[in-house]
Amino acid sequence: MNTMQTNRNGVQNSARTLMCILAHPDDESLGFGGMLAHYASAGVATYMISATRGQRGWMGEPAAYPGAETLGRIREGELLAATAILGVRETTLLDYMDGDLDQADPVAIIDLLVGHIRRVRPQVILTFDPSGVYGHPDHIAICQFTTAAISAAANPRYVDRAGQAPHQVRKLYYRAFSAAELAIYQQVFGDLVMTIDGVERRATGWPEWGITTRIDAVAHWQQVWQAVACHRSQLSAYQKFAALPPEQHRILWGNQTFYRALSLVNGGREIEVDLFAGIPDEADAKYVLYVEPMASRLASPVRATHGATFNQKMY
Ligand SMILES: [Zn+2]
Repeated sequence: MNTMQTNRNGVQNSARTLMCILAHPDDESLGFGGMLAHYASAGVATYMISATRGQRGWMGEPAAYPGAETLGRIREGELLAATAILGVRETTLLDYMDGDLDQADPVAIIDLLVGHIRRVRPQVILTFDPSGVYGHPDHIAICQFTTAAISAAANPRYVDRAGQAPHQVRKLYYRAFSAAELAIYQQVFGDLVMTIDGVERRATGWPEWGITTRIDAVAHWQQVWQAVACHRSQLSAYQKFAALPPEQHRILWGNQTFYRALSLVNGGREIEVDLFAGIPDEADAKYVLYVEPMASRLASPVRATHGATFNQKMY
């Protein structure tokens, strides 16, 4: 499966597939936009899952807050517009509440994520780092759930609700913001800081030596900036981006750094310039033994494109 696919631009590609699992609309453009644009343009099938609709991310006057449901719908539309610009093949929204993701039932959300991982069968998955960039509880939670789901998805004894075959993700990456990148963000947003349970959490950034992977997406920085600008409900916070000189835009959107948290195929200190480094072109030959015993149990996968069927209760 997953051989020769066609993306929205009609570009043929091989079996390369990656999936981003994040918390809020705008995470994809602000944190992963350059990487997404880079790989979509290379013909890689890119998938995006957002656990919430960012329903509480209201930037206007408190009295004008349209309510969680309405803002969630607005932000869903913004996310779909942004991911279309980034060439994302499929965008899925789960129905979790913004700000409450760390209260989610782990069994239920991990099962949902396993369902998507086994359906899409990506070689590479990306999410936030364990610090959530600046201690954001939703970012931390999605990092933990994603990491757990990758383990469960590969386990032949774990049966997801659709009874799909196991899938072993080859590589997992955490977004590793460097201090230089965070400095530009903080120039725009002010200090990235949250107070949680009376404790101040600040963005510290990854040491340069901790970064395992650098993706050069500078050719796509304008595309990423367009995607960022789709998030109109958030634009009051982004206004300073528009004032940044092009050179800073290029740094922000054109150079994305990651930490290789899991790899079955490579390692070492050499800085990677490709998330797929070390992954063979062939499909899952090495892991076919996992697939065989389960093949007869394949059923209709849990599936949603652009969130269409994800408005029901559970999700
Ligand atoms: Zn976020």
